[in-house]
Amino acid sequence: MDADRGVAVSRTIIVAGAGIGGLTAALALAAKGFRIVVLERTERLDEVGAGLQLSPNASRILVDLGLQSRLQDCAVAPDAVTAINARSGRAIVRMPIGDVAARTGAPYWVVHRADLQAALAAQVAAHPSIELRLGCAVDDIAPHANGVTVSAGGAQEPGLALIGADGIWSAVRGLTFADTQPLFSGLIAWRGTLPAEAMPDGATLRGVQLWLGPEAHLVVYPISGGRRINLVAVVDGSWNQRGWSARGEPTEIIARFAHWDGAARALIGAVDAWTRWALFGMPDGGVWNRGPVTLLGDAAHGMLPFAAQGAGMAIEDAAVLADCLAASHGEGRGGSAAEVPATLQRYAALRRPRVKRVQQLARQNGVIYHLPGVAALARDVAMRALGPDRLLARQSWIYDWRR
Ligand SMILES: Cc1cc2nc3c(=O)[nH]c(=O)nc-3n(C[C@H](O)[C@H](O)[C@H](O)COP(=O)(O)OP(=O)(O)OC[C@H]3O[C@@H](n4cnc5c(N)ncnc54)[C@H](O)[C@@H]3O)c2cc1C
Repeated sequence: MDADRGVAVSRTIIVAGAGIGGLTAALALAAKGFRIVVLERTERLDEVGAGLQLSPNASRILVDLGLQSRLQDCAVAPDAVTAINARSGRAIVRMPIGDVAARTGAPYWVVHRADLQAALAAQVAAHPSIELRLGCAVDDIAPHANGVTVSAGGAQEPGLALIGADGIWSAVRGLTFADTQPLFSGLIAWRGTLPAEAMPDGATLRGVQLWLGPEAHLVVYPISGGRRINLVAVVDGSWNQRGWSARGEPTEIIARFAHWDGAARALIGAVDAWTRWALFGMPDGGVWNRGPVTLLGDAAHGMLPFAAQGAGMAIEDAAVLADCLAASHGEGRGGSAAEVPATLQRYAALRRPRVKRVQQLARQNGVIYHLPGVAALARDVAMRALGPDRLLARQSWIYDWRR
């Protein structure tokens, strides 16, 4: 290896996966002076997926990375989250989430995943220190004394460290510690969208609706600058294929919600194409690091979506990891390759307790959202008694986080 190339490698971090976490990590690390190579399996960053929620803990990081102007036409800032009883159609409680944004000084956004990924990719493309290689699936990893060499798309890429941001079915995790596998939750998310003008009764939706029914729930909010409405209906079941794009038969989901209030049924009936994905989560406490390799986002801690924090935790991971690497290996720090594993351990130690707490909250929410019968009545009474301010305050440990 010649001297120039040696210096370049000592400043190069390889990121596997150009999802939300991987692209955010690339931007956060490049902002700290590193050179980044992002290896993405797919040939194009597709229009796959639907809505994501981004609360202030995550949006603040994106704003700091310069994403606000790229997101302003597609992200929507909902005014409230309204929990609704699925049988009666009556609001249980309306939580003014817009107040959280005002209090924390960072937006609460709902956004189409494809729009967020496109905005991050555009920011990445504009950064001279980041190279995004599409159609490059990571298929081998060789750690060594100077860092790690990654095989992808028939080429070998050397770097100081490898960040596995390659999602819940992570190849990096499989190659590094194959024992940790995602677990099927027994729940399936159905998702669909409709044009805003197709809202039943010509209604305008400015907030997030959270419909709570027995053994199922439905989340509805505007995306794409308010031009489309995103629906995610979560039901139990045994279908557990991988992937994000399996077609769902409309009659099946319509039948499943046949006993719900008419307004919920009208929303479900207005969607013409459904996809579904089986919900998997990583077990708490799995391994995230080995030598110069670490995991981030769903690869490390894929979680149920019921705390609406999957993307948010990946974004937080990216920012904390960039801070840790900059502190030991940034410009003028002079950290050697031998110190990288300790830096990555520090990152994981900083992230684990918070992520575990969010994973647990997501699981608890799943149980609470799906309560049947008398237990559901008790839940509704308790939510009303707590009221919007106290319900929101219970989430402030998530929203108020700063690094
Ligand atoms: C196609 C898709 C659609 C999604 N849709 C939704 C949705 O509608 N709603 C929702 O809440 N969440 C959705 N998610 C999940 C959500 O994006 C994540 O939970 C969250 O953003 C955390 O992101 P992440 O960066 O950790 O992983 P992901 O966003 O899953 O990104 C992982 C990336 O790694 C790439 N990759 C995988 N294997 C390799 C490999 N061997 N080499 C290189 N690259 C690889 C994948 O192609 C992907 O681009 C979706 C994820 C994907 C991949």
